[in-house]
Amino acid sequence: MPFGSLGLCNELLKSVAEQGYTSPSPIQIEAIPVVLSQRDVMAVAHTGTGKTASFTLPMVQLLSGGVSSQPQCVRALVITPTRELAAQVAASIENYSRHMNIRSGAVFGGVRIEPQIYQLQGGLDVLVATPGRLIDLYNQQAINFDRLEILVLDEADRVLDLGFIDDIRHIQTLLPSKRQTLMFSATFSKEIKSLAKGMLNNPLLIEV
Ligand code: AMP
Repeated sequence: MPFGSLGLCNELLKSVAEQGYTSPSPIQIEAIPVVLSQRDVMAVAHTGTGKTASFTLPMVQLLSGGVSSQPQCVRALVITPTRELAAQVAASIENYSRHMNIRSGAVFGGVRIEPQIYQLQGGLDVLVATPGRLIDLYNQQAINFDRLEILVLDEADRVLDLGFIDDIRHIQTLLPSKRQTLMFSATFSKEIKSLAKGMLNNPLLIEV
């Protein structure tokens, strides 16, 4: 199956070709059209399956159709368990959206918070964040979730393993309930199922 049949716009197809990708991976074939249809997704997929592109490509496309972000607002939020993953996902988003007008950034702990507060002042289309630093920024009134359209929880099993469950539940209370939510996990344990039940609305389950 060619990338061109998944519903992605020409700007994204151009980036994908520049990456040297010739055909979409199984999770990309399943997830991209469903995310574009704005439905919630629960995907069980390991790293290395192409899962990052399966949510970042359609997410960027959905955001490109709307009104750009207001000061301190974020339109899409990707939560990751670690700084390394946050930086990696943010780099992918930047790369894929290079031919589009999308403002993205990443925030995580272990570095000064001031530049992150400054970065958020103008608003962002996509923010990739680790849970603790995201809550710090919210408590400092540096971020506004009122216009959030899309939430992604990446590597949800690791988020739970690292003890961030209370942070995730707290963050969820701060977000609009009318939104699209995507969850990715390497396992589909009882805990992940229960988290998914509380966060997702009639999700399509994808297992690869
Ligand atoms: P991920 O599972 O998201 O960590 O991606 C694993 C690696 O596969 C990354 O280095 C991606 O750049 C690469 N990748 C993602 N999608 C494709 C594709 N359709 N064809 C070739 N490589 C890909």
